[in-house]
Amino acid sequence: MADTIFGKITRGEIPTEFLYEDEHCVVIRDIQPQAPTHVLIIPRKPISRLVDSQPEDQTLLGHLLIVAGKVADQLGVGDAFRLVINNGEGGGQTVFHLHLHILAGRDMAEGQLASGLN
Ligand code: AMP
Repeated sequence: MADTIFGKITRGEIPTEFLYEDEHCVVIRDIQPQAPTHVLIIPRKPISRLVDSQPEDQTLLGHLLIVAGKVADQLGVGDAFRLVINNGEGGGQTVFHLHLHILAGRDMAEGQLASGLN
């Protein structure tokens, strides 16, 4: 897949504050937050879209969910957050390096699926 800004961020080529990092992923603040808390969990492995993930990515995908819960907790929003993955242009994806959005700090129950991103 083509390199993206998230590839450069995960490799440390663009100085970006990591709220969390481990050998598999990094967590950064979204540059255009859609909620008071809006962070991105980005695997170091560049997978273009969720649908491009393979059976061998199963452990990684599970890890990203575990990290999401931990990071939400650390940010003080562990009781009320939304986790979003946009898949493909039609799904609102703009950066083609798989990532998870954590959104919190506003009424996430309002608007249900319509609220959120894009
Ligand atoms: P998506 O639309 O799901 O592909 O999400 C891409 C997200 O990345 C958007 O919410 C952007 O605001 C965010 N974004 C793009 N470039 C950066 C950057 N350099 N640092 C942090 N967030 C970014």
